[in-house]
Amino acid sequence: MKVVVDREKCKAHGRCYTFAPDAFERGPKGKGVARHAHVSDDDADLLGAAETGFMMCPVGAISVDEE
Ligand code: SF4
Repeated sequence: MKVVVDREKCKAHGRCYTFAPDAFERGPKGKGVARHAHVSDDDADLLGAAETGFMMCPVGAISVDEE
């Protein structure tokens, strides 16, 4: 799975790295950064964290897509 944070859309709410710290971290100016741009389909824990961040972002800045 491909995990991308759109830096233009991100408003630095911090929900992704607060609720899913395994998949996201705090970047410059408080914006979210994906810790792993690519997550293996075999890594259920990390897939879950990426999807949690996706659901928690209030502005739709995170995309998680099949590769
Ligand atoms: S939750 Fe969304 S808006 Fe907030 S830091 Fe993460 S990507 Fe940015």
